[in-house]
Formats: sequence, C-alpha cells, structure tokens
Amino acid sequence: MSSVRPVPLCDLQPQYQALKAEIDSAVDRVLASGQVILGPEVAEFEREVAQFCGAAHAVGCGSGTDALSLALGALGIGPGDEVIMPPFTFFATAGAVLRCGARPMFVDIEPDTFNINPALVSRAITPRTKAIMPVHLYGQCCDMEELWRLAERFDLPIIEDAAQSFGSDYQGKRCGSLGSIACFSFYPTKNLSAYGDAGMVTTSDPDWADRMVTLRVHGMKPKYYHGMVGWNARIDAVQAAILRVKLPHVEGWIRQRIAAADRYDTLFQSRGLEGPLVTPVRRPNRLHSFNQYVVRVRDGRRDGLIERLRAERIGYEIYYPLPVHLQKCMAQFGFQPGDFPVSEQAAREVLALPIFPEITAEQQARVVNACAAYLGAPMKKSA
Ligand SMILES: *Cc1c(COP(=O)(O)O)cnc(C)c1O
Repeated sequence: MSSVRPVPLCDLQPQYQALKAEIDSAVDRVLASGQVILGPEVAEFEREVAQFCGAAHAVGCGSGTDALSLALGALGIGPGDEVIMPPFTFFATAGAVLRCGARPMFVDIEPDTFNINPALVSRAITPRTKAIMPVHLYGQCCDMEELWRLAERFDLPIIEDAAQSFGSDYQGKRCGSLGSIACFSFYPTKNLSAYGDAGMVTTSDPDWADRMVTLRVHGMKPKYYHGMVGWNARIDAVQAAILRVKLPHVEGWIRQRIAAADRYDTLFQSRGLEGPLVTPVRRPNRLHSFNQYVVRVRDGRRDGLIERLRAERIGYEIYYPLPVHLQKCMAQFGFQPGDFPVSEQAAREVLALPIFPEITAEQQARVVNACAAYLGAPMKKSA
C-alpha cells in the first residue's frame, strides 16, 4: 500500500506553483517598502474584498477569530448579553462570544445542510439577545430569508460567520453582504487562503466599520489615545499582498470545487452508495462553494470507512467530532447529551473527503473506490 500516492484532503501546492512568480514579487514589494503591517497593501486589499462581497467597508485583521471578536466589539456585545448560534461549528464561533463575556445560545441545525435551523431560532430569543450569528458551514449559506425576517422582527443584528464561505452566495448576493457584519478567515484551508493567519470583516455600516478599525489597534484613535479597549488584531501587509494575487482567481477556483463536487455526486450515485453514504445537499438559490465536501456515513460505519481511507492513504477529516455545547470548557453551562440531537448525530456521522480546486478525476475515483470497497461490502453484524 505504501507505494500508492496519497490523496491529500487539501493540496495547496498546485495553487502555489501556478502563482509562485506573482506571489514572490508581491512579497518582495512589501519587504522592500518597509511597511509590513497594515498600510497601502492592506487598504487596497480591503477595497477589493469589499467590492467582491458587495459591502461598503472591509477591515482586514489577524484571523477569522479576530474578525468575530471585532464584530462583537463593534456591536458592543459583552457580559450579560446572549448571542444565538449553532452548536455544530468550529469552536471559534462560540469562543469569541465567551471571550467577550457574553453567552452563546445554541440553536440546533438542519439535518440536511448542517446549518442553523431558522425555525428554532425564535424560541431562543430573550430580552438579553444581542445578535444572531449564523455559520455558513462547509461553503453553503444559511437560510437567510428566514433569519432576515427574525432579525427584523426582533430588531437584532446578524453576524455572519462566513469563515468557510468566501465567494459563496445567496439569491445572487455574496457572503459578506448578507447580514450586519460578516467575518472571514484566510486560514490556509479556506477558499481564499493566506500563507499564515489572516482575516477580514465586512459591513455596510460606516460607524461599525470605524469601530472595528479602531478596535483592531487597541481602541486607539488618535495615536496613543484610547477611547475603547481593543487589542492587536492587525493583518500583515505580506499576507494582504499575497491575498491580492489570489483574489482574482477565487471565482475560478470555486467553479473547480463545484465541478469536483458534481463529479463525486455522480460517482457515488453510479456506485449505488447513496444510502449508506449521504452526499451533500445543495439548496436552490445559493451557490455552495464546497470549501468542504462533507458526506454523512450512516449506521455507525464511519470508523470502518476511515480505517479503509487510511489504508489507502486518502485524506479525510471530521468537522466536527464534538458539538460545542458538549466541550469540556462548556461544563459550567450544564448542557447534556441529547440537548441538540441533530448536531450530535451530525458529529457522529460527518466525514470530509478530499476537495480542492485542482483535485483530479483520478484522485476522486480513488476516493470513491475506497468508499465503495468498504460500504459496498455487506455490513458486519455488531453485537
Ligand atoms: C476557520 C474558522 C474560524 C476561525 O478562523 P481563524 O482564521 O482560524 O481564526 C471561525 N469559524 C469557522 C466556522 C471557521 O471555519
């Protein structure tokens, strides 16, 4: 088996090789300029991202986590406040809320899209609710129509956690313009990826944008005068310059991701694996950018399938094996297994398979063959 070439979950090499000359010259330009934090590269990148997303303002920051914290800070959310979010997300969504002293109020997800179930949101709203924070998981937008209605009815801002959905859209509007403030991550596995940590917030409200610009530099405005307590959430100019090289390619890369997802769907169907394995559901009127291609593996067979993938050197990941409400650090809130059953079942069944823009048909065939070899076999009787 060791002679078989691995199929990585995500391969950053093809993108780097294709753009190496441009990336190198962007890095050289920044180093030669001496302006390595914020500055004109960052300002240009912010302008380009704002335009790309259809938002009036974009503020670059150190990471997606910084982006979430800046959004919460701009809205003045803190101790005693509650923020509505799904428990089935990367921990950062909840972590940012906890770090600012507020409390995450969890709402279970839809079983097919893995996104927050808007039908369950209104019962989680209390007089202390200060925002709704939907997460566009894996690259597909939440049901915004319903969330917009709730936001309007209860007069609540929406903070999009769009870390996995740069370039995704909903009814033709891109993530970053679907709520009050949107938060992006440029972590290396995301749709637009830096060579290190970086993030961005977008908004169409000039006052919130202004607050985030100030919070990003310790709440400092003017220099060495602090009207607010911020922190260091700055973005490096090198990352901004590299991201500017990549930004014009994102739409094309997303088209390639979608083509790869189409191919997986077709292959799994033709092998008759729809049943033990559930391929990703795509809702109409939204562009799923397939930052991840996540299947459900039914009947407790995920561990067995993983063993097979490992033997064949195929990458995989579980996003996420334990919902946030059951994390050890959340014990103080007293959540129990069964509190958010749809999230808990998803955590037991989801499996992310290799996807990246340049994945080849041959690599995908190997993934599907490995799944078929295991799932096509008759189920072992368990005790
Ligand atoms: C990646 C991610 C984040 C955090 O982004 P960082 O840049 O790693 O801080 C937040 N939320 C979600 C849903 C993510 O996938």
